[in-house]
Amino acid sequence: MTVVALDDTDSRERGMCTTYVASRIAERLCHPATGEGSEGGAACVRRILLVRLNPAVEYKTRGNAALAVHVDCDPDRAFAIARAELESLAETADERTNPGLVVADHPADAIPESAARFARRAIREHLDIDDAAALVDRHGYRSWHAGDGRGRIGALAALGSWRELEGWTYEQIAYREPQRWGTTRDVDAESVFAAADRGYPEAWDTVDRGESETVCVPHTPGPILYGIRGDDPETVRRVAAGIESEPVASSRLFVTNQGTDVHLREGSIADVRDGRAYRLDGRVASEPETRRGGHVFFTLEGESSSDGEGNQERGDVDGLSIECAAFEPTKRFRDRVRALRVGDRITACGEVSDGTLKLEKFAVRDLVRSERVTPTCSDCGRTMESAGRNQGYRCRECDTDAPGKAEIPLERDLEEGWYEVPPCARRHIAKPLVRGGFDAQTHVER
Ligand code: ATP
Repeated sequence: MTVVALDDTDSRERGMCTTYVASRIAERLCHPATGEGSEGGAACVRRILLVRLNPAVEYKTRGNAALAVHVDCDPDRAFAIARAELESLAETADERTNPGLVVADHPADAIPESAARFARRAIREHLDIDDAAALVDRHGYRSWHAGDGRGRIGALAALGSWRELEGWTYEQIAYREPQRWGTTRDVDAESVFAAADRGYPEAWDTVDRGESETVCVPHTPGPILYGIRGDDPETVRRVAAGIESEPVASSRLFVTNQGTDVHLREGSIADVRDGRAYRLDGRVASEPETRRGGHVFFTLEGESSSDGEGNQERGDVDGLSIECAAFEPTKRFRDRVRALRVGDRITACGEVSDGTLKLEKFAVRDLVRSERVTPTCSDCGRTMESAGRNQGYRCRECDTDAPGKAEIPLERDLEEGWYEVPPCARRHIAKPLVRGGFDAQTHVER
């Protein structure tokens, strides 16, 4: 098997999309005139992987995707075709676009351990171009790049991912006719909502019912018309087939690590570093506060602190506590965050940047159910006053007294279990609760 892995072809302003380049390469490899393989001269594409890497990487254009085409054909020919496509399609006029291509010829189960490890690290850490270049050399892979060649990091990660990852999901992507790129997409929203309902829950994040938004239709200038994500190939194909829209120029199934939470690592607040994503247990230490722009913040306090290695890279994280944020685009999720109270025990998930954890989901483990308040007088019902330091409280009118604060039940607008951002704010790699496998009750957004 030949693996054709690529990354970094698009530009924020100029459009393009690496999934499209991969799809074009697959098309050309399959074409009898250009490809060669076992049957009728056409190479057989087995699958195309769409792998989301560390969402905290600053070089990304949007979703930090890298691609790998698994194909049965001659590696030299695959390399030549892929390189020609990259040279013609990659938006290298944008200096931030640094395409990379890596081609390997070995069976899928012979992907080296070092490439597999590289894939996991590319999803969870920051890597250097030199690391990728050294690995490419060590394994004698064919490679090509433009600009600084940063794209080789993603390409190598996409190559290694097939060995390293499990629990793959699927996305059926429909592409637009090139003359329409950059124009408003013509997609019938009603048909999207109806198809989404029929495919749910196996197909997820197709729409956001709360926001009445067709999440599967992007707003960027690139070639994608819509992308349907789900647990199995049949469902995503079926949902895509139910959508009425402008003509679909081509359509392609991708095997992905989207919706898997593979970016999250277990951690403790004391040890977190910027640029990584975590699951962190802690106790809410400040009342959630809504700041300018509608962003909601609170402090999460850890159980313990350590002064382990890595302190310099931890940004503003002070070791004992960390600020957590639900930003305005997370919409109704912010109401769940605002419902937290000091003392609640939670597990918070998200990426840490500049010392702040950007919440993707959280689990309520233990809710504070009562609060201590100044007692009221049993005779007149008025709030008592302090009788002096450590002297309890008393009612001036009735001369009644109380030894200390009273404990009253607290009405909570939150239950135990997992809460998540709505589909319109989901990160590609984040796992929707509807997919299951969580360790507590789930409060699913759809
Ligand atoms: P595209 O559609 O072009 O793939 P994108 O949002 O996926 O858009 P890229 O343009 O690919 O973003 O930019 C991401 C860049 O960061 C790539 O060059 C990739 O190789 C590199 N990269 C990805 N993961 C890491 C990592 N963990 N450490 C360092 N660099 C990384």
